[in-house]
Amino acid sequence: MFTCRNQPCRSEWELSDVDIHDEGQGLLFRCPVCGARNKVEQIAAADGTTRYEQSGSPSPTSPPPRRN
Ligand SMILES: [Zn+2]
Repeated sequence: MFTCRNQPCRSEWELSDVDIHDEGQGLLFRCPVCGARNKVEQIAAADGTTRYEQSGSPSPTSPPPRRN
């Protein structure tokens, strides 16, 4: 599952919904709704299969305050 990193969009996509390709700066997909570039990483598993993970985890909320 991928999530568009464009904050007002935040659409969620399955791998089959998006087209992952390289525009010269690494693999990415463009959100089918808003067209935002979302970087992905290609991960080769030990069994020979390839999967993709979205680069950079979105931070939906600000981190909780720390009290020391
Ligand atoms: Zn989007």
